[in-house]
Amino acid sequence: MKGVTLENITKKFGKAHGVADLNIAIQPGEFFTFLGPSGCGKTTTLRMIAGFYFPTEGDIYFDDRNVSTLQPNKREIGMVFQNYALFPHMTVDENIAFGLQVRKLSKATIKEKVDRTRSLVRLEQYGSRKINELSGGQQQRVALARALVIEPDILLLDEPLSNLDAKLREETRVEIKRLQSELGVTTVYVTHDQTEAMAMSDRIMVMENGYVKQIGTPQAIYNRPENRFVASFIGETNLIKTTVRQVTRDEVEVESEEGIRLVGMPANAAASADLRQGSTVYLSIRPEAFGIGPGPNEMLGRVQFVEFTGVSIQYVIDVKGFHFTLMMINDGNELLAIGDMIVVHVPLRNVYFLGE
Ligand code: ATP
Repeated sequence: MKGVTLENITKKFGKAHGVADLNIAIQPGEFFTFLGPSGCGKTTTLRMIAGFYFPTEGDIYFDDRNVSTLQPNKREIGMVFQNYALFPHMTVDENIAFGLQVRKLSKATIKEKVDRTRSLVRLEQYGSRKINELSGGQQQRVALARALVIEPDILLLDEPLSNLDAKLREETRVEIKRLQSELGVTTVYVTHDQTEAMAMSDRIMVMENGYVKQIGTPQAIYNRPENRFVASFIGETNLIKTTVRQVTRDEVEVESEEGIRLVGMPANAAASADLRQGSTVYLSIRPEAFGIGPGPNEMLGRVQFVEFTGVSIQYVIDVKGFHFTLMMINDGNELLAIGDMIVVHVPLRNVYFLGE
């Protein structure tokens, strides 16, 4: 396994930039995910690591080796794409063997490696099946086996689950994670699905518009977003524009444009938040942070919307004209109805401050 370093990488397409000024250090064996909305530059970055694009500026290293302009077949990478890119009329084994035949290994070695990799992805019984006789999930496991059989230094996965239905996605997600930790192969994963990213990754890079917005562990990105984009892209949140009214060592009191007064803790803030009296800060309060009934940051609201999903209930409540989204675990009690008045509160530690 190798580390992957991107130094000051920019990729331009004509005058437009695909990505700009990327700096990443992916550790050997790490599961590292590029996450962001469509067009943010995830695939462009992955393609540069693979060697399908060369960077306009900057350098790419695998460990200490500068690979910026090395051809893809010289990079010892395994790749899996969204659309599998398998040979449909060939068997599972023929597909898995492909990369080994290109490398001109002996027949016996190829057989041994194909057998081992086929059982690694739990397709023991399927060696002589044709690809077009397999389910989508099985096909994706063949694609994974084909990438892994060459024992790559780096595994690159570009939205590999997006053609699978919800249940298969979850199963294959677990499978990929299991394989990755078993093999310890450095993995770069591209997705626009934040749940997938959170569940699988050691670290996530959140991108927007060709720029990095934050790199961190799933917990850091969820609990301590550095900016408003990350706060709202990762999970759901209530973002409230406020003015700082009072600051002490332990507490920051703010007031929203609607006149809602809320208190948080100064330590619970992004570096971008200016917590001086009179400055503008944004609060991020997650829907699951609310409690029903009196408590700190108590508010009275009118229910606007109710959605029951079984495990939880989502409410939207109006407090002085601001609409808060709340998420409550279903405890079997009667649901609130639209128009009901409700008292809610938010613990101070769940109020998070962000900059402009
Ligand atoms: P998606 O999730 O939709 O695949 P993405 O995050 O992978 O999106 P990229 O495909 O990396 O985004 O694209 C980043 C930007 O670069 C986009 O604005 C895109 O239009 C542009 N771009 C990508 N490839 C090319 C190309 N070959 N020529 C011109 N522009 C391109």
